[in-house]
Amino acid sequence: MQNTAAPTPTHCPYCALQCGMNLAPVEGGGVEVRERTDFPVNRGALCGKGRTAPAVLDRGARLTEPLVRGADGELAPASWEDALDRVASALAGTRAEHGADAVGVFGGGGLTNEKAYTLGKFARVALGTSQIDYNGRFCMSSAAAAGTRAFGLDRGLPFPLEDVPRTGCVILVGSNPAETMPPSLRYFTELRERGGTLIVVDPRRTRTAEQADLHIAPRPGTDLALALGLLHLVVAEGRVDEEYVAARTTGWEEARAAAMAHWPEYVERITGVPVPQLREVVRMFCEPEAAMVLTARGPEQQSKGTDTVGAWINLCLATGRPGRPYSGYGCLTGQGNGQGGREHGQKADQLPGYRKLDDPEARRHVAGVWGVDPDSLPGPGRSAYELLDALGTDVRALLLMGSNPVVSAPRAAHVEERIRSLDFLAVADVVLSETAALADVVLPVTQWAEETGTTTSLEGRVLLRRRAVTPPDGVRGDLYVMRELAARLGVEKGFSDDPEEVFEELRRASAGGLADYSGITYRRLAAENGVFWPAPEPREAGAAPHPGTPRLFLDRFAHPDGRARFVPVAHRASAEEPDEEYPLLLTTGRVVSQYQSGAQTRRVAELNAAAPGPFVELHPRLAERLGVAEGDRLAVVSRRGRAVAPARITGAIRPDTVFMPFHWYGEGRVNTLTNPALDPVSRMPEFKTCAVRVERSSDA
Ligand code: SF4
Repeated sequence: MQNTAAPTPTHCPYCALQCGMNLAPVEGGGVEVRERTDFPVNRGALCGKGRTAPAVLDRGARLTEPLVRGADGELAPASWEDALDRVASALAGTRAEHGADAVGVFGGGGLTNEKAYTLGKFARVALGTSQIDYNGRFCMSSAAAAGTRAFGLDRGLPFPLEDVPRTGCVILVGSNPAETMPPSLRYFTELRERGGTLIVVDPRRTRTAEQADLHIAPRPGTDLALALGLLHLVVAEGRVDEEYVAARTTGWEEARAAAMAHWPEYVERITGVPVPQLREVVRMFCEPEAAMVLTARGPEQQSKGTDTVGAWINLCLATGRPGRPYSGYGCLTGQGNGQGGREHGQKADQLPGYRKLDDPEARRHVAGVWGVDPDSLPGPGRSAYELLDALGTDVRALLLMGSNPVVSAPRAAHVEERIRSLDFLAVADVVLSETAALADVVLPVTQWAEETGTTTSLEGRVLLRRRAVTPPDGVRGDLYVMRELAARLGVEKGFSDDPEEVFEELRRASAGGLADYSGITYRRLAAENGVFWPAPEPREAGAAPHPGTPRLFLDRFAHPDGRARFVPVAHRASAEEPDEEYPLLLTTGRVVSQYQSGAQTRRVAELNAAAPGPFVELHPRLAERLGVAEGDRLAVVSRRGRAVAPARITGAIRPDTVFMPFHWYGEGRVNTLTNPALDPVSRMPEFKTCAVRVERSSDA
């Protein structure tokens, strides 16, 4: 079935590793994945999701014509003209009747940079609403907030992954790359082969933890206390890098005092991690010349996520790690364009270039690029959960792109209720997701290999995804949708459906911002296999292009004085702790064969066969106490609802904790249970811990 046409080099549609792959045409149409070894991050390796990615292009699973809900309440095929007219008229009508902020926009961390940029501009210029946010708020927003607070700049990894094997010790906190991004595991394997050590902090003995030199399993929601206890020991054992602290940071005395209030024995009581293990972590982390802490959703998806990540950053700063070779703090971002998705303006408080929406100079600059009056730009809006919670009340119409909150939002049954109560919902998607199925208008859009666009990987490496196949008839691009809607809303100029043209404008809008893309072009991305931002355009004509910045902070941090900030933090309990009625903790996460809300991967036969449904992981002692056998149907009940799934009994989890993956809808939808309590800084919901009880489903 092979064709001789040259394969197209591109990147995987799924996670933030953005593995390189070649797509080769096959006889009869379609493409197949071929190895692409020239992309250094994965060097040809792919996980099952990447290998089977062409299946998501399959027409059988695709939406190929717009759908409009008729008077009978059913979705029925419609022409593009009719569907776009209906959306524009509903958004304009809502705006006229209730004001611009009654129209909401919800984006996604999987949208390309061009789409994320255009969506932010569309909300603020074509609709004039402040009510825009995106699902990345649920992903790494706490790490972004903590990184900005400490370093003055948030780039998930301030160094390339190739630095991982060259360090002496990595502490992976609440991260399971063996399942979330398997090809990245080689960096940790190589680290150990070179004599470095890997410490994994996770309440579960995950596939990643199995490969660690040391696995410590704190109670969910106590990572903040854990980091404080480690910092206490660093001080007590005289391991602070005083010279570095004096030369490159501010705020140490306050942070030191806060840590000294967290005695190791006190921390042991909170976390369940024995003091000797705490001492061992400190020894392993402090002895090598270079070391790093990498966090993921475990510490971040908490109602104290920003302070939790901040505590780990304080540990790194006190030991002199950030801004030194092969050292520092980094966040392993999850979604495909999780990094770029947060830089270009689809976030409630941001403008392109990672500028703040309430900064007058930023507003002037971006308004200048957009050709509008800075005073016409709305101010910051609600964060993602707050926006979803306001649907049907203050926010009466919603345009949603690249997200499936009915499955992925916390307190999902409530969110579904709010969505159902809207006056009008329009969804642009590639498949009829659970959220799209509730829409008044569904717009079928192109995806991944059917279009060209850029993404920014977890390393801050801007990449070019190239079009490799012709989209199905009847499908249009998200950029086309926004251009057409803007025109119908009276904004005829300033919206293009040509991705390169949009990227050229994005370059200008980002110029001078923290995430400066102005020196990056499609031509460079194609020739150089990606460019790390910031990469400003040289001021002098004819000067050599900026090479990009793989490693940040080597000379200075991004605060005006060039110093990193310690922020004093203290332990606090999770928003919901176990009690008599709900005596257990629930934590959630991913499995290797599914991705996020499962909208794409549940439609891929091979992946679905490998991971067909949710399950409840519980410890044998808990199972015995509850009289539960392997495979029994269990109801997990929280204050917000119940989810039902079969038992999976394993000694790899704490006896006080149960785990469920979050990729499914229906009776096993775990986000029915999760807690929307928000972090006060990042507005991240507390996905990672809530109080539950577990019952045999037949008893429930
Ligand atoms: Fe795709 Fe992520 Fe798997 Fe790589 S690790 S193939 S980017 S899903």
